[in-house]
Amino acid sequence: MINNIPFNKPYSNGKEILYIADAIDNNKLSGDGKYTKQCHNIFENKYGFAKCLLTTSCTDALEMAAILLNVGPGDEVIVPSYTFVSTANAFAIRGATIVFADSSSNNPNICAESIRELVTNKTKVIVVVHYAGVACDMDEIKKIADSNGIYIVEDAAQAVDSYYKGVPLGSIGVFGAFSFHETKNIICGEGGLLSVNDETYFERAEIVREKGTNRSAFFRGDIDKYGWVDIGSSFLPSELNAAYLFAQLEAIEDIQEKRKNIWNFYSESISTWAQKIGVGTPEVPEWATNNAHMYYLVCRDINERDFVISELRKLGIGAVFHYQSLHNSSFFKGKYYGPVLRNSEKYSDCLLRLPLYYDMTLEQVYFISSSLKDILSRRL
Ligand SMILES: *Cc1c(COP(=O)(O)O)cnc(C)c1O
Repeated sequence: MINNIPFNKPYSNGKEILYIADAIDNNKLSGDGKYTKQCHNIFENKYGFAKCLLTTSCTDALEMAAILLNVGPGDEVIVPSYTFVSTANAFAIRGATIVFADSSSNNPNICAESIRELVTNKTKVIVVVHYAGVACDMDEIKKIADSNGIYIVEDAAQAVDSYYKGVPLGSIGVFGAFSFHETKNIICGEGGLLSVNDETYFERAEIVREKGTNRSAFFRGDIDKYGWVDIGSSFLPSELNAAYLFAQLEAIEDIQEKRKNIWNFYSESISTWAQKIGVGTPEVPEWATNNAHMYYLVCRDINERDFVISELRKLGIGAVFHYQSLHNSSFFKGKYYGPVLRNSEKYSDCLLRLPLYYDMTLEQVYFISSSLKDILSRRL
């Protein structure tokens, strides 16, 4: 039987095109118009972020964070090795020294103990990544950061609408960076958001985002002319993207509920038998919520993982692996002198992501889970 269950299918509800048409009718296509403001309002009101700024990507939001913290040569920035390139790159392009921490043994999030061993008097920032939208061990990480005068930046790319002990992810560090890339829960093609959680940075964040000018203050009527006042770049998205995003944000409750149903059905039909044979499934610590960004397995070794992916593909099921540890990347390999990062390497070799998108049916989830059971029993 040939199925066609891709890894991801971008969600849309039909309102996107109406709002984009409205933006066109309003003759306002560049950034910071009505739709951008409405998106900012939703994030600020629903999640209580002190200040939100839409960006062209999560990568750009992270780059803004690096600029705003004046990260530069001589500064050390601790990031998990098991992450997307941008988590590290945003700080590497400022000339910082990237220091890689290991993941936890029971989930791919950065391990607080591993961070503690890497802190020096040059450590300026710890970047946490809430993998699969599940919160890192923030109290422990905050203890380390606070006692050493280190900033925390949250790469919350996958973490929209998720919480740590009741506090929204993206509001714990000095900055949070979200992604609306088409593979995330809430999307606009390419897009992101910087949450600014300390008002010291409000004004400069607007300036850095507007090419180093005080144009935002000018448009608000706070000043009577604008000009070059700082470094910056073009980090703001067009109204077309914001209009698309606004339609998604209006539907966020429905999207999250649907994804959680799919995730829970995966969990019910997979986790018990998988754990019995030593195949890992996602664990959500008691401090975290699950925003159903991702359902994954941790196979026993790389051969098993690759075998499962190729067998699932034969059935038309788009399972995929995930990050290759950055300390082993071709860019970094010759420059890495840190400890062996066993857990990070384990997830690089063994983690497999299953399809999860709004339009999936529970029949499809059932087909995937029973196929998996069959494939893995052939490996025993
Ligand atoms: C998707 C993702 C990014 C990059 O997001 P863009 O919006 O594509 O720049 C960064 N970090 C993590 C953890 C991600 O999952």
